[in-house]
Amino acid sequence: MHELSLAQGITDLVAECARREGIGKVTRVLLEIGVAAAVEPDSIRFCFPITAEGTVVEGAELVINRPPLRARCEACGTEYEATYVATSCPACGAHEPKVLSGLELRVVSFDGA
Ligand SMILES: [Zn+2]
Repeated sequence: MHELSLAQGITDLVAECARREGIGKVTRVLLEIGVAAAVEPDSIRFCFPITAEGTVVEGAELVINRPPLRARCEACGTEYEATYVATSCPACGAHEPKVLSGLELRVVSFDGA
């Protein structure tokens, strides 16, 4: 399952950082999952506690931000919010979007003690 391995990666990353910083218990993990990332936040919410069990991340609250899909037209430079990665430029109609945000899946920060 795609999301289970992603959740495992998140748990491993946070657990490793926590270990390096001498944190014994992680209480909160802040994630960014772009709206156009091929990841279901609900699935991550479901899988995360499974992968976190028995680690310093167990019991941590998962906070998920959803950055919108934003693109800049390579033809005219207009920045716009898009529904799909392939959305054309609203100013000139060109199909040359450079995606600025909305595809990310990353751990932004975590809290613990
Ligand atoms: Zn344009």
